[in-house]
Amino acid sequence: MATLDDISVTALKGVGASLAGTLSKLGICSVQDLLFHLPHRYQDRTRIVPLINLRVGDHCVVEGEVTDSNVVMGRRRSLQVSLRDGDGFVSLRFFHFNAAQKQQMSEGTRLRCFGEVRRGRAGLELYHPEYKVVSGDELNPVEEMLTPVYPLTEGVQQNRIRSLCQQALSWLDRYEIRDWIPDSVRLRYQFPSINDAIRYLHHPPVDANQLLLLEGVHPYQQRLVFEELLAHHFSLLRLRQAVQSHKALPLTGGEALHQALLESLPFSLTGAQQCVVDEIKADVQKPIPMLRLVQGDVGSGKTIVAALAALQAVDNHCQIALMAPTEILAEQHWINFQQWFAPLGISMAWLSGKTKGKQREEALARIASGDASVVIGTHALFQQEVQFHQLALAIIDEQHRFGVHQRLALKDKGEQSGFVPHQLIMTATPIPRTLAMSAYADLDTSVIDELPPGRQAIETVVLSDVRRMDVIERVRKACIEGRQAYWVCTLVEESEVLQCQAAEVTAGALTDQLPELKVGLVHGRMKAKEKSAVMEAFKEGHLDLLVATTVIEVGVDVPNASLIIIENPERLGLAQLHQLRGRVGRGDTASFCVLMYHPPLSQNGKARLKVMRESNNGFVIAEKDLEIRGPGEVLGTRQTGLMQFRLAELERDKQWLPEIKALAPALLNDNKLVDALITRWLGDNVQYGAV
Ligand code: ADP
Ligand code: MG
Repeated sequence: MATLDDISVTALKGVGASLAGTLSKLGICSVQDLLFHLPHRYQDRTRIVPLINLRVGDHCVVEGEVTDSNVVMGRRRSLQVSLRDGDGFVSLRFFHFNAAQKQQMSEGTRLRCFGEVRRGRAGLELYHPEYKVVSGDELNPVEEMLTPVYPLTEGVQQNRIRSLCQQALSWLDRYEIRDWIPDSVRLRYQFPSINDAIRYLHHPPVDANQLLLLEGVHPYQQRLVFEELLAHHFSLLRLRQAVQSHKALPLTGGEALHQALLESLPFSLTGAQQCVVDEIKADVQKPIPMLRLVQGDVGSGKTIVAALAALQAVDNHCQIALMAPTEILAEQHWINFQQWFAPLGISMAWLSGKTKGKQREEALARIASGDASVVIGTHALFQQEVQFHQLALAIIDEQHRFGVHQRLALKDKGEQSGFVPHQLIMTATPIPRTLAMSAYADLDTSVIDELPPGRQAIETVVLSDVRRMDVIERVRKACIEGRQAYWVCTLVEESEVLQCQAAEVTAGALTDQLPELKVGLVHGRMKAKEKSAVMEAFKEGHLDLLVATTVIEVGVDVPNASLIIIENPERLGLAQLHQLRGRVGRGDTASFCVLMYHPPLSQNGKARLKVMRESNNGFVIAEKDLEIRGPGEVLGTRQTGLMQFRLAELERDKQWLPEIKALAPALLNDNKLVDALITRWLGDNVQYGAV
């Protein structure tokens, strides 16, 4: 028997090739896809809201008598109709109208309208509401149930989708949607059947609990939310399986090198660092690829952990690739690793997008021959032409700028030698627990939850840029006392050019205003050589003040710098601010961060800067960031491919995540079930399809 996922939407009345094409942009090809195209909201047209109770943002039905009707000439000509219902008033505003409509809505007419309440020129307004003329005394019924609102794409109207979904529902009388959730699970959570849930959500009955539906927490919705989250979780576990179905070189030994490096350091590892080092050691000894994410707050000392992991591979005569998302960060690693590894006689190679000509050829040759054991660079290391000799370990810093794609590209790099490299991913942007559980289900995670001893909390102050002169004085004082400072310029525009120009202007002004200080400048458009010369000068203490764009966000490590000024912090995400702030507080002097905003500050902006002032803990800040901005933003756009949910909302639905995590491994072997759920919820274009 045919099933609903075999039946094309063209089987529906009124769907021809062109509409089918448009629908396919929404991922809708079969009748079943249409049934899973669920309302993302509902409109409540079941009751008339008294005008006095209207709030901005509400979508609602109102009814009242026209008290006035005027054509207003503003920037755009519009028809403004005033409506009264006893105690309350509202204005209806129409930009497109004809004489008949104007006539129809004359004084004394009773209107029933549906629309969104906005704040307009004349107080609360409904823009272009749907309306009809009603007579006062008859009981015109409003809708009996909630009206579904579907996600749309260009070229399909809401009403069209509504009627198509209604048609699709009628097919449910003849065909069933396969329910993949095992009975035992359904019973445990008292889930309704999938068919009932689908019917209900497209067409909520009269007595439906509207409050729950509007919030997305109705049992029928939660039944599907659970299934969607499960499908996403499966897709990540599949990714993990795909990588781990390959062999990796087991990396053993390494003790002597570890000891030599540790003895050369001026400090000993913290307990948290030691734990993570041990976890990595246990992973890489296995013949299956490690997939481990190390989270550690800014300054928690991830670099040395990476170096120790690298030594383990060196001891097995294999190659290591260390990748960073920016040139400047990669250079910092290069400097650190050289300092640590050169005395141990380990050969290294550098490769970035800017490595050109002879240098590039030489680097490529040394990588291909295996002459270079440790290869450090940017994502240039992913390029086709880079051939490794025996890549056994890939270390990726700041993973959330790298996507799943790159994780897979890496797998291919290693395959050239028949093994897949172990992967160690390090991030300084703590990922809230809920996100980590859903977005990184394919990774094991370690947390460095302790800072090296002696660190002092950074004191953060929030100031208006009206106080710029005071701030400059503060910089002067700190630098005269022998400390160093950063001055970070940000701009709204994404344009790197403009950002760099702004930094140049600021550096010029500060050089004039602070003649007794040595001021340096670093930005993204400088040549790699120039950049590292400036960074080096700052690190060596030859510069007092470093003016920079957000390129210094990650990885820069100058313990003597104890003051950072961040301009326009209200434009940055909290995680990014936390990263920037982490450039100071790396030594044992008390450190300060000045967040210098440009007034006026929005409510939201105030709230965010307050979080920065009150917390120095990356995890707390990340949780707040998630609350304020949502998961897509927090993870960065490139990472969101797998994070687009249809129904689920991580914050609201997070209680399911531990349940799903516990349940999924047992179901993962049922390939049919897993395939079906992934296709149902994520469609065919799952990123690792080619694995
Ligand atoms: P992040 O986790 O932000 O990458 P880094 O690896 O750059 O941090 O380390 C920050 C600073 O702390 C560096 O100067 C590093 O040498 C130092 N450091 C790392 N581990 C320790 C430790 N156990 N004790 C003291 N200092 C340490
Ligand atoms: Mg780092």
